[in-house]
This record gives sequence, structure tokens and C-alpha cells, in this order.
Amino acid sequence: MKNKDNTNDKKNVGGVDRRDFLKLSSLTGASALLAGAGVLAAPGVAKADVGGVSKKTFSLFRKEHASIDDVHEIAADYKRMDQKNTIFSRGVWSPPIGEPEGLLKSFHAKWLGLVPNPMDGEPGFSPEAHALMVASWASESTGAPLSGGGVRNRGPFNNWELHANPTAPERHEFTSKSEAAQIVKRASRFLGADLVGIAPFDERWVYEKWFDFKDVIEGKAKEPLHEDAIFPFKPKSVISLAFEMDYDATMTPGYVMDAAAGREYSHMAEAGHKIATFLNHLGYRAIPCGNDTALSIPIAIQAGLGELSRMGTLISEKYGSRVRLAKIYTDLEMDFDKPITFGVWQFCKKCKKCADACPGQAISLDDEPSMEPKTGSISSHPGVRKWYHHNEKCFGVWEKNGATCGVCLAVCPYNKLDTWVHAVAKLAVGVPVGRDFARQMDDAFGYGEIKPQNVEDFWAKE
Ligand code: SF4
Ligand code: SF4
Repeated sequence: MKNKDNTNDKKNVGGVDRRDFLKLSSLTGASALLAGAGVLAAPGVAKADVGGVSKKTFSLFRKEHASIDDVHEIAADYKRMDQKNTIFSRGVWSPPIGEPEGLLKSFHAKWLGLVPNPMDGEPGFSPEAHALMVASWASESTGAPLSGGGVRNRGPFNNWELHANPTAPERHEFTSKSEAAQIVKRASRFLGADLVGIAPFDERWVYEKWFDFKDVIEGKAKEPLHEDAIFPFKPKSVISLAFEMDYDATMTPGYVMDAAAGREYSHMAEAGHKIATFLNHLGYRAIPCGNDTALSIPIAIQAGLGELSRMGTLISEKYGSRVRLAKIYTDLEMDFDKPITFGVWQFCKKCKKCADACPGQAISLDDEPSMEPKTGSISSHPGVRKWYHHNEKCFGVWEKNGATCGVCLAVCPYNKLDTWVHAVAKLAVGVPVGRDFARQMDDAFGYGEIKPQNVEDFWAKE
């Protein structure tokens, strides 16, 4: 039951009351519940540290796979996506997506500050929230402009001419591919990435043609660039990078939620530039990419950073889907990481929390994923079994906001900070009966509620 401010007045979801649950769920209580479900039969679980459950506990359900084709059904005749058909690119050639002006004017232009954003007095749409949003994107806007929208090789950071032509007098030889991977991962973490994995170069995820609409948006050209996808060198490895979004900002409606994304696009622009520079100084070629050039999510799956979810994002083990992704193509040969699964796919089948919460009804409520999209949209690229996202509906919400929306990320049970509650919930994910229980627990504790009060709480923190 909801009260006026849209919060549950009694947190009793599926029979789990918050107070009852606290009584029940001292470790012993929670363990007993899970033991009843057969979860605790495996050795090692009893040693779990409830303050921050050990990796050992999660690894009960963690599996490594030889290749992405062992994790996902991918059509044998899978065709590469033309970047022209991404929802960002369509903003300049297939309006109207958002009414009345189309996505170009009503979203990109607001985002770039070319037309005013709404400051309608709604919580989260204040001048200071808007300033924070613009500031969060600042390094992306100047260093790698519109790389979040899929524009490649622009600005001083994502500069392919610079990074594809190293000036080191000679190439450093690593003793092995394994050593090369270790050194590059260590450097990447030091230089700003929160998660790093190495994937093989897989042409399937590279856009069939690249698309650049920056000059059109800025009024400097009438036609976007739509070019064959040709790398300046033959890539041997792809470094997949994930950047953690701030938890409090992710939970704050309005422009602050967008700032949570923008800050990480800025981080990835800076880190990508630095990591490419690191490789250049060892004599290797490297090109940093944001959302441009290729699909980041399958690359991140190949690099072992996480699993695909119902809402279409990557769920990482450590931060859930509170991550933004980037990648760096290089001609350095390294050992590759392996794709992992840890129960996300099975949990998503039951959970549907993101789909229930989505203000645009853009996330599939189907029980089972499919090979073909049912959205009728050219932005839904077929050929992989998954839950297809309705991009137009999603961007309709963005257009109204004048900013990105991240409600789906905020409500996802995987996104929470590592508390014992969620440690137990994650444990429950491993068994069918536990999946219902895990969502109930998440709801019962009020996690993922996007409340107007969160705006005040965000600004009240030091
Ligand atoms: S970003 Fe917002 S509108 Fe888009 S799918 Fe997520 S919740 Fe729905
Ligand atoms: S909210 Fe639930 S269904 Fe949606 S991605 Fe997260 S775990 Fe999956």
C-alpha cells in the first residue's frame, strides 16, 4: 500500500516485514532460512562474514566460461549493427522520437546547453542540480565530446591520431602475455578505472559503419559523417573498463541522477586518455573509446566484468549495474579474461523490479528472453537471446527530463552497497526459491525507492 509520498507505509512485501525481518535475520536467522532453501549445504558458506560477505560465498554461484558464445545464444548469421541506427544517432536523422521537436533539439541540445533545460520546481530540477550535472560531464564535454553519445575520435582525449601513433623509440617486450595483462590491468586501475578486464578483438561488436553527428548538433554541418568502420591498426586486444557511479547520486531523482552518469563519462574520458598514453609510451598503439566504435556490453562480458541483465545493462559483481563502460583497442597482445556468470540471468527472470519501476515502460516484462525484438524499433538490434529494450520509450523519458534517467539502475537489487542484507540476498539468488525471497527482502527494506526526500538528503551530506 502506498501513502501520499509514494512510499510503502508498511514494508510488508510478499510477507516479509522490515521489523520482522530484522528479528529473523540475525545471521543465524537468515542462515536458517537459506539453509531451509538448501543454499547452505555447500562448504565455506558458514564462514561467511556478514558485515561484508567474503568472495568465497559469492563464488559458490560464480562460473567461468570459455567464450561469450557459451553464455549467450548468438545467431550464426548475426550481422553487425550500423551505428546510424543507435538511438543517439537517430536523434539527427529520424525525428521525431521525442515530441514536439525530436530528440536532436529536445534532448541533445538541452544536454549540450544549447537550449534551456526545464527548471520547473520539481524536486531534483533546481539550478544547483543542473550545474552539478553540467559540471559532471565537463571532462567528457571538452576531452572527448559526445563520446557518451557514440561520437569517436573527437577532442584532445579520444584523439586517435595521437594515440594510434606512439612516439616511443622502441617497443617494450613483455616476458609473456600474462605479464602484459597484469601490468596493463594494474596501470589501468591506478589511472582511474574501477574494474578492468581484457577481451579478444571480436569484430561482431564493432559497428558496421561509424556515425558522427557532432558537427550537425553544433550547426557546423548539415550532414552527419557515416563512414566505413576501419581501425587505424589491427587490434589484438580490447581493454574493457568499468567506472562506478556514485550510489547516493544514483538514488537522487532529476539532474543529480544524470550527474551520476556524467561523472563517470568524464572519468572514462580522462582514464582512457591516460591508459592509451601509458601504452603509447611502451610503444603500443591504442585508441580510447566511450560509447563509440563498438558495443561496450558484449566486450565487457567477454572481459569477465559481469553479466547482461533484463534492463540491458551489464551487472558487475562488485557494483551491480552502477557502472559505466569504456574500452581501449590496442595492438598489444595480452592474455584474455573469461566471461563469468553468477546468477544474474536467473534472478532477472523472477525479479522484474526495473521493468515495474520504469517510467517509460521501456523494459520487457517477458518471463523469457528472445532472439528477436518485439519493440518494432530499428534500434533494437536482433540476433542475440536477451530482453530487448524499447529505446524510443526510454528516450522519450530522457527527452522530457532534459537529462538521462537511471531509475532502472537505482531500483536494481544488485546495485546496493555491500551490506549484510544484500549479501544474504545475493546468496539467495543461487536457488530458485531464493530469487523471490531476495527481491522481497530488497523491497521490504525499502531499497531502490526514488523519493523526493532523496534530493534533500543528497545535498545535506558533506
Ligand atoms: S533509463 Fe529510465 S526510462 Fe530508460 S529504461 Fe531505465 S528506467 Fe526506463
Ligand atoms: S532490477 Fe531485477 S530484473 Fe531488473 S536488472 Fe536488476 S535484477 Fe534484473
